[in-house]
Amino acid sequence: MDEAAPSAASHIDMRDGDDFTCPNCGCEIMLKHHGDEAKMQRMQMFTCCCGVTMEFEHPR
Ligand SMILES: [Zn+2]
Repeated sequence: MDEAAPSAASHIDMRDGDDFTCPNCGCEIMLKHHGDEAKMQRMQMFTCCCGVTMEFEHPR
């Protein structure tokens, strides 16, 4: 059972090693280690240095 009910719309399924790309400028980053979710008041997708919200390179 990997598919949890989408109860929290703000939750983003980030995991260690996930790649993110910017649709605007083409930057690509890798999440080496996902931090402590308990300390994330409001989880948000990463924002590129160009100001655009980044996207999963390999959406699940
Ligand atoms: Zn960018």
